[in-house]
Amino acid sequence: MCENKNSITLFESGRNKISYCKGCKSYSLIYKTTCFSIPEAHYEEYHTLLKSLSPKDFHYFIEENYYTLIKNPIYPVGFCLSPEDATSLIEMMEQARLVEEAFSILYN
Ligand SMILES: [Zn+2]
Repeated sequence: MCENKNSITLFESGRNKISYCKGCKSYSLIYKTTCFSIPEAHYEEYHTLLKSLSPKDFHYFIEENYYTLIKNPIYPVGFCLSPEDATSLIEMMEQARLVEEAFSILYN
């Protein structure tokens, strides 16, 4: 996860945050207690993957909820997402994209 002070915050709500670093050309996502970064080249792919999840993908039953396991594009770790988590991440990424588009209109 990049700690560059020049990264741009694209979305922030409670503990959840998406920022972009021009230096690393990567997005940092903080969601609940998870923090991970996605290179710009993989960001859309990740968004598409989340949107493509269907109920049958949530087949791990843990403490009264179903989860899916998503691998991080860079690190050899995966993390569990409930359907609600996936929906929240999709919404965060879509709101971040709108902010990013607004920035590009204003500053380019
Ligand atoms: Zn960086």
